[in-house]
Amino acid sequence: MNTLNDSTVCVTGASAGIGRAAAEAFASAGARIIMMARREDRLERAARDVAGATGADVLVRVLDVTDRDAVNTVFASLPGAWKHIDVLINNAGKALGLAPGYATTPEHLDGMLDTNVKGLVHVTGAVLPGMLERNRGHVINVGSTAGHWVYPGGTVYCATKHAVRALNEGLKMDVHGSAVRVTSVSPGLVETEFSLVRFEGDREKAEQVYANMTPLRAEDVADAMLWAATRPPHVNISEILMMCVDQSHATMVHRHV
Ligand code: NAP
Repeated sequence: MNTLNDSTVCVTGASAGIGRAAAEAFASAGARIIMMARREDRLERAARDVAGATGADVLVRVLDVTDRDAVNTVFASLPGAWKHIDVLINNAGKALGLAPGYATTPEHLDGMLDTNVKGLVHVTGAVLPGMLERNRGHVINVGSTAGHWVYPGGTVYCATKHAVRALNEGLKMDVHGSAVRVTSVSPGLVETEFSLVRFEGDREKAEQVYANMTPLRAEDVADAMLWAATRPPHVNISEILMMCVDQSHATMVHRHV
């Protein structure tokens, strides 16, 4: 097992859901954690909880991954040893609305492309050169089953997650010959704030997505990331595609009614 003791792990989108769970899982495994997201209050609270539950050192940075200049400034100004990131978890992401692809509003189009695709490239661009210099590191990209299958109402979101899958595969080739590892963890339905964000705060609509079935928990996805990161150094897990038992394909969900 590849130990995480004395490792630095950076998680984007760590104020909620899968990112927050990943921060806690890696902190429990002995890593020091950099937690990043846009909502300062939520991020501070999540960081306090993670540090309290695990005793890990946690550093918080407010960051919008869509802002390339901010990304470069924030990573360049990390203090001392925190700059040496061993595991980068590119998790920040979202789906916005369920409109047909051709009718996606400009705000939703930019929101999904800028966060899920360009944000991932901005952050990786700020971190990966250091990993290559040290010949040590692991980039974990949060993909989705939406990177494998397209579903009605998910045209643009699925396109962004197909792009994440291509980026994941290409990044592994980019670092070919180095010891740096690249993994995608691609879940199906996970109960987080994902649907609340997709439906712009409509809690009733969001709850319907997970009604009468047992979705994955954010902790299940974090556990898969931790497993990939703790394989022996010569092992690169390319992708983990995972769904709850009640889901068998993009829209094939068994409801217990
Ligand atoms: P979530 O609970 O809504 O969490 C999303 C996180 O991303 C939040 O911490 C949010 O924090 C952050 N974020 C959003 N925009 C950001 C930006 N521009 N810059 C920095 N951080 C940003 O949703 P989740 O389910 O945990 O989603 C995490 C990842 O899993 C996403 O990439 C999503 O596509 C993927 N995923 C989710 C599911 C699912 O069913 N839940 C399935 C497959 C894949 P702030 O708002 O504070 O910035």
